[in-house]
Amino acid sequence: MPIIVHKYGGTSVGTPEKIKNVARKVKKVHDRGNEVVVIVSAMGHTTDELIDLMDKITDNPSPREYDMLVSTGEQVSAALLAMALQEIGCPAVSLTGGQAGVKTEDIYKKARIKDIHLDRMKKELKQGNVVVITGFQGIDSKGDIITIGRGGSDTSAVAIAAALAADVCDIYTDVDGVYTTDPRIVKNARKIENISYEEMLELASLGAQVLHPRSVECASFYDIVIHLRSSTKDITGTYIKSVAQIAREASKMEKKEPVRGIALDENIAKVGILKVPDKPGIAAHIFGALAAESINVDMIVQSIHSAGAMADMAFTVNRTDMKKAVQVTEKLKKKLAAVSVIWDPDVCKVSIVGKGMVSQPGTAAKMFDALSKAKINIQMISTSEIRVSCVVRKEQGKKAVQILHKVFGLEKVR
Ligand code: ASP
Ligand code: MG
Repeated sequence: MPIIVHKYGGTSVGTPEKIKNVARKVKKVHDRGNEVVVIVSAMGHTTDELIDLMDKITDNPSPREYDMLVSTGEQVSAALLAMALQEIGCPAVSLTGGQAGVKTEDIYKKARIKDIHLDRMKKELKQGNVVVITGFQGIDSKGDIITIGRGGSDTSAVAIAAALAADVCDIYTDVDGVYTTDPRIVKNARKIENISYEEMLELASLGAQVLHPRSVECASFYDIVIHLRSSTKDITGTYIKSVAQIAREASKMEKKEPVRGIALDENIAKVGILKVPDKPGIAAHIFGALAAESINVDMIVQSIHSAGAMADMAFTVNRTDMKKAVQVTEKLKKKLAAVSVIWDPDVCKVSIVGKGMVSQPGTAAKMFDALSKAKINIQMISTSEIRVSCVVRKEQGKKAVQILHKVFGLEKVR
């Protein structure tokens, strides 16, 4: 019997009515004779509300208690969905991550899933139950509840689908798929039918908030197809799968358009340390100090002053880390005999993503040319084989996205 794995996001289970609606959909799938496992997020903004509550008690929560607290949101939605299913005559049971056999690393707040023991899930499925599992959590070797990072329910769902050897993991959410860019920014943004794991991973990591990046990584590793789709409209969404599978199914993929999607990340800030004596070990020093404070650095630009043995070093961080990054860099300024530290929260990152750009030289140049014609100054650039990102002034970010969407012809149906 095929096993069906569905995941419902926070907005899709945001109210009792919505939970009842999900129950009706799940029952239909179960009635067709399938074994069904459903992973849920916490209702609406529950997780944020739990964190607000915590902030009223302490500025310095113990990570263990943090996990105890924020994992409760998913327990509420899982239990309510199981009850809603029972209410309409569909046998169901809810399980916490731990009860469902989800074993994680011994790291509070951001563990990776290590293993999934299927005994309990299999037993419940055999008895005819729909199994509803709390996303976002598992247990560590001590049996403590561990969460796996904000937005992690997508990853829970894909990992469970992989463990159950399902072919597809359906992720139901409040958008009906992955778009060429945010439709709120570009009106004629187009829904993408099929996208490769690699492209989706870039888009998800670059600020397209539709999927948890680690879920894509996990799907790619186990070759699980993700079908990202709307929880309210019964239409096909976006399939995220391997390049090989996409190519086998549609020969038109061979055309390989260079750019498939455009992402805008407005959550970044730029920090710079200017006129640092240019000696071996400077970069290691600066970025080592930032890493020691768990600050994630994204783009890095080093420029050389022709006049002397001096360098300017600029980098971007998550905006919430800017203050801390400036403090760390200020401390280093004296030690490294640098001249000044600068920072700027009013920047954003615009990225074009597509596997086809590997074989099409000139894609980056086309991006730079389009931005220059629109008088948008590029402050920093970084590239990978399938991505080009530019840091620009924040108020020009949306315009940059609109221009690039047009220049690369993303509105056209292919
Ligand atoms: N409820 C968790 C969060 O808000 C996990 C999730 O929704 O994926 O981060
Ligand atoms: Mg989510």
